[in-house]
Amino acid sequence: MATYRAADIDVDTTMCQGLGYCERVAGGIFHVDEDSGLAVAPASVDGQEATDAAIAAEELCPTRAISLRLHQTTTD
Ligand code: SF4
Repeated sequence: MATYRAADIDVDTTMCQGLGYCERVAGGIFHVDEDSGLAVAPASVDGQEATDAAIAAEELCPTRAISLRLHQTTTD
């Protein structure tokens, strides 16, 4: 069975409009900076729960500003 357990995160600040959907679904990872009005995130997350939250944010972002590089581990 294949499982995603980690992801590298990139937020394209030229595309982000600070709408905050990412922060709402994954507030432990994404944060809209008060000064810039743009989303900030760590360069990567580890663990299934955090990875799933990052995926949800990527899917919800209306401007497609979030890009993830998923790291797959395989268990059997
Ligand atoms: S959901 Fe997308 S546009 Fe909105 S703050 Fe997050 S990265 Fe920016």
